[in-house]
Amino acid sequence: MSLDPVRVQTDHPSHRFSGLRDRFGRCITYLRVSLTTACNLRCIYCGPRRAGRGSAHCDALSDDAVVDIVRAAASLGVKAIRLTGGEPLLRPRVWELVERIVSIREIEEVTLTTNGVLLTDQADTLAAAGLRRVNISLDSTDPVEYSRVTGRDAVSSVLQAIDVAVSAGLQPVKLNTVIGLTSDWKQQVLQVARMAIDRQVCVRFIERMPFGHEGRFPAPTLADVMQCLEGAFDVTPAQGPRGSGPARYYTVNGGVGTVGAIYPLSAPFCATCNRLRVTAQGQLRACLLSDASVDLREALCRPALERHALLCRAFKLAAFAKPRSHGSIAEARIRDMADIGG
Ligand code: SAM
Repeated sequence: MSLDPVRVQTDHPSHRFSGLRDRFGRCITYLRVSLTTACNLRCIYCGPRRAGRGSAHCDALSDDAVVDIVRAAASLGVKAIRLTGGEPLLRPRVWELVERIVSIREIEEVTLTTNGVLLTDQADTLAAAGLRRVNISLDSTDPVEYSRVTGRDAVSSVLQAIDVAVSAGLQPVKLNTVIGLTSDWKQQVLQVARMAIDRQVCVRFIERMPFGHEGRFPAPTLADVMQCLEGAFDVTPAQGPRGSGPARYYTVNGGVGTVGAIYPLSAPFCATCNRLRVTAQGQLRACLLSDASVDLREALCRPALERHALLCRAFKLAAFAKPRSHGSIAEARIRDMADIGG
């Protein structure tokens, strides 16, 4: 791993933060933890469609390991945890893990990213366990198109889960919609945006990122998306929801929800990136689009005190390895999103 020379920005507004910082002054307060590489969908944009992905959480980190990792992160200033995958709800009794993480004093918020297929039955239990909110992937509201993109005829379950999540108070419910999956992207954008008219959801159109050898896609730009929305709806700037991150938000036709767009490659938000990621197999990654990572597995085999010290050290190393940005668009490539944890 080659590291840039150390340049800490002493005038950064984060100077009052006493926790973990990277070399560029960014405070690390957010950790994404992948609970499994298994998934019950085969989305065309989420890496190679591999066989046998349905039940691969046997080699994933145990609940105890996840809790130890989060404790170490929390002791260094991490306050927000997002559970992801693969599909995190495939993991048995996720709510018990949520409860344990919520009980860690420094953790202020536990959230989850899911495809929603299994959410209807678990939403109330997760909310009772202390889960704050969910992001749900929804690439199309059209059953045929949804099946084509995800490999499964499940859009009705997901639409039901969205309403159940809102009722369970897992709000704001954010819908992640990767765009540029079809030539008819306008239809996709308009259909999903309509969800924000009468539902309290926050739709986020997400730029599709290329994998491994893939080239870039002839995808709509951020300006294209806005033009499409403005051509069909009355679009008004709106306050972003809690935890709104990098996107700008709008209401459509005065609806109760909002829409926004996230363009990690064309409009990167690296300057304010506050996150690290743990893969399901225990690799602590510094950046989604960089291979810089620290292996946590050996630390996890050590006795408790030593384990904590080694995990803290690993977090410091990963923060140190965090690149200033994820490089040029031409270089930006992600590996398998289901392995890294989206
Ligand atoms: N199974 C869960 C789900 O479907 O939300 C969590 C894991 S999934 C990898 C998390 C998110 O990764 C999805 O919402 C999707 O937006 C995003 N994602 C996956 N592949 C992507 C790609 N190639 N470009 C942009 N976003 C991607």
